[in-house]
Amino acid sequence: MATSINQPPTRSTAPPVTVHRVLTGQKALVTGANSGIGQAVAIALGEAGADVVVNYIDGDASAEAVVEKIRKFGAKAYAHKADVSSEDEVAAMFARMMQQFGTIDILVNNAGLQRDSAFQDMTLANWNKVLNVNLTGQFLCAREAVLEFLRRGVVPSISSAAGKIICMSSVHQEIPWGGHANYATSKGGIRLLMESMAQEVAPKRIRVNAIAPGAIRTPINTSAWETRPAYERLMTLVPYGRIGEPDDIARAAVWLASDHSDYVVGTTLFVDGGMTLYPGFATGG
Ligand code: NAD
Repeated sequence: MATSINQPPTRSTAPPVTVHRVLTGQKALVTGANSGIGQAVAIALGEAGADVVVNYIDGDASAEAVVEKIRKFGAKAYAHKADVSSEDEVAAMFARMMQQFGTIDILVNNAGLQRDSAFQDMTLANWNKVLNVNLTGQFLCAREAVLEFLRRGVVPSISSAAGKIICMSSVHQEIPWGGHANYATSKGGIRLLMESMAQEVAPKRIRVNAIAPGAIRTPINTSAWETRPAYERLMTLVPYGRIGEPDDIARAAVWLASDHSDYVVGTTLFVDGGMTLYPGFATGG
């Protein structure tokens, strides 16, 4: 039956959110944002209208270059050097953000590293380093963000949620990875950290989710794609037949940070070209 144009609407008639400025007025912090995935995410959040804190550990010039790119979109940005595995440095980073931006709406827990070795040769120092940065760093930053989200609550003119946290995980939260036991352990830990946080804080309208990238072209994994034989070997693991680019992750992050994903809570979004589809089983097994 045709609906009369005089009948009241059964759905919101609010104008659709403009995709390109979906984060207008929001304040974001991206850790590890002067390289690879974090850099692309920070720039994309700025392009979507958010003001962005660009966290990094080394490389002042590359951090400033990211800040400049974000400012070109008319958003505010500054770089902040801090080790995400240091409780004091994380606290100081958030204190400065509260001073300069007033609050936080979006945390992208992205900083991460690898210290690879055969299991029997893995030093305690390399085990601790990876767990401290990749897992404890996410805990420390998320705790500060949640405190501020709880203090401030929902501001409906800004977002339907009181805050959003995106944890950068990896396909290795699922796929065991020989030679990288510390890294895979950190990512497996991120999965349950993210899900436990999400379950606990969802009633306060805080959305916690994760992105699990597959193989993305960044400095962390140069040896996996820089030569032709290495790239071809990598492609045997990627049904979609191409390496991922940092922008593939950045687009997913903008969506997860925006109200377009308002009912998405405690989910891991795999952005991996099908790597987790066990391509070795495509023709047998
Ligand atoms: P990258 O090496 O290009 O960037 C890592 C970033 O983390 C850098 O900005 C670095 O400064 C920062 N960082 C390292 N230690 C830090 C610390 N203690 N405090 C603050 N910042 C620190 O690597 P990337 O590929 O862009 O990785 C980003 C995230 O994506 C990591 O968590 C990584 O595990 C994850 N990831 C990457 C891939 C991939 O294929 N590239 C796949 C899955 C997951």
